[in-house]
Amino acid sequence: MLSDRDRIFTNLHGHGDVGLAGARARGDWADTAAILARGHDALVEEVKASGLRGRGGAGFPTGLKWSFMPKQEGPKPHYLLVNADESEPGTCKDRDIIRHDPHKLIEGCLLASFAMRAHAAYVYMRGEFYNEAQVFQRAIDEAYAAGLIGENACGSGWKFDLYLHRGAGAYICGEETAQIESLEGKKGMPRLKPPFPAACGLWGCPTTVNNVESIAVTPTILRRGAAWFSALGRPKNSGTKVFCISGHVNNPCTVEEEMGIPLKDLIEKHAGGVRGGWDNLLAVIPGGASTPVLPRSICETALMDFDGMREVKSALGSGAVIVMDRSTDLIEAIARISRFFKHESCGQCTPCREGTGWMMRVMDRLVAGRAEPEEIDTLEQVTRQIEGRTICALGDAAAWPVQGLIRHFRPEIEARIAAYKARSGGATQMAAE
Ligand code: SF4
Repeated sequence: MLSDRDRIFTNLHGHGDVGLAGARARGDWADTAAILARGHDALVEEVKASGLRGRGGAGFPTGLKWSFMPKQEGPKPHYLLVNADESEPGTCKDRDIIRHDPHKLIEGCLLASFAMRAHAAYVYMRGEFYNEAQVFQRAIDEAYAAGLIGENACGSGWKFDLYLHRGAGAYICGEETAQIESLEGKKGMPRLKPPFPAACGLWGCPTTVNNVESIAVTPTILRRGAAWFSALGRPKNSGTKVFCISGHVNNPCTVEEEMGIPLKDLIEKHAGGVRGGWDNLLAVIPGGASTPVLPRSICETALMDFDGMREVKSALGSGAVIVMDRSTDLIEAIARISRFFKHESCGQCTPCREGTGWMMRVMDRLVAGRAEPEEIDTLEQVTRQIEGRTICALGDAAAWPVQGLIRHFRPEIEARIAAYKARSGGATQMAAE
């Protein structure tokens, strides 16, 4: 387990002072000017060497992403856009960072922006986070008043402005190019890539979009060094991660742990175990609603990092662990997720627009068992026709939960269909409709 001395978010649960004085007492803003004095490229190289991978879900190396930005300031300004549009069902980690440790994020915004030669950063926050926005704006105001950001950030001579922008509730605005569109005042619809935001992002200028947690950990990485961070976790899966564990556990919680922690330890040691004991566990969605569900047998040994989850055909995602015990109707749970993605599809691409609705309708019938057994294969094939064939990852996100259900719980779906047939005197679903 992660030792307290390696913990980055020491006020994750909000027991301490959220304001600037409390943040300084926890070590934030301690030597920021000295870090800035190392120069733009040195900061990028340090984050690269730390092995930090994006904590929003995709897991792209953060330092490498920063290095795609132009190396010189040109006629177009550079921007950092921090994705705080945390909307994936089950995910609530960024929320705790924002409301309990906001100065970590603000200091991270300054350092990351400086590294990428950006004089301005935007934090695009989920609109429903009303109280969090209040806390965060207060923290921004404190940082300006103390001269930590603004005309001469930390006395470094670097001008840096930070803006909070609140979204209006669309999940798709968590996709980086949709977020850029939304910030520009347009409908939040993902853009085709290329061009990538580092070449043509916000208002056509070089832009990097990073998740809240990715940015909030960078001050500590730059302070304690890449070697410290990369020694935590496993190769290519280094550092710490904030996990949020919800559902049928005795103590739902948000906790920072070392990457690669066994899923079972996360549930048993931090979340007080499964309601009714481990044997009462049915399945776990390990990384937010879009990640494929895992049955208990796999949860026994699965490791919570990018590679560990890939090995069991799921994904680390945002680190949002949703635990479901045997009382759960798993088919209904996945059908509910299908409904969510159908509702959130922006409708630009045919496979996503039509496919999410089609999957939702079939899933709804499967909940009742009102289907033919062959339809399970058809449903699986349709998920493959959506996956990888859309502008953004929402198509994949909608397909994976259904794939996970069929992969691990096919006998349960078949039993549901058989039970319906038995009740309806063998009627096919068509006849029953
Ligand atoms: Fe929109 Fe879905 Fe296409 Fe993404 S995959 S751009 S959400 S239609």
